[in-house]
Amino acid sequence: MMAGKKAGIKKGKKQGQYLVESSHSPGKFYTVDINRGSCSCPQWLFRMHHKGEKCKHILAVEQKYHVKVKEGMKAANPKQEKKAKIKESKAKELLEFVRKSKEADSMTLINKFGDDTVDELIASGEIVEEHGRIRLL
Ligand SMILES: [Zn+2]
Repeated sequence: MMAGKKAGIKKGKKQGQYLVESSHSPGKFYTVDINRGSCSCPQWLFRMHHKGEKCKHILAVEQKYHVKVKEGMKAANPKQEKKAKIKESKAKELLEFVRKSKEADSMTLINKFGDDTVDELIASGEIVEEHGRIRLL
């Protein structure tokens, strides 16, 4: 765990939005929307929102600003919901692909699934990249 290091949190431009720094990629911020109960991080998009769970970014905002984020909300915007679904299925395919081949070349994965998907799965700790090879964590 990250002992002692607190992720940065700041208020977003819109009312009810907060930006929480990623612990894996410092300098990268996820958007937490307390009105929708959503976060833009891959963990939340890929699985937590289906179960109505809160990711650590939502929890961090609750703690810092003493706000209560609604539970069990899905991405309210249908477009975003659709995008999240596409992302999720791509991520599943990618994980399945890596699981079958044990290890994959990162360029192959990027060409096949897009660098977004690869980046986000690395950021969320589902896969690791070492010397251009990708394997499951
Ligand atoms: Zn999050």
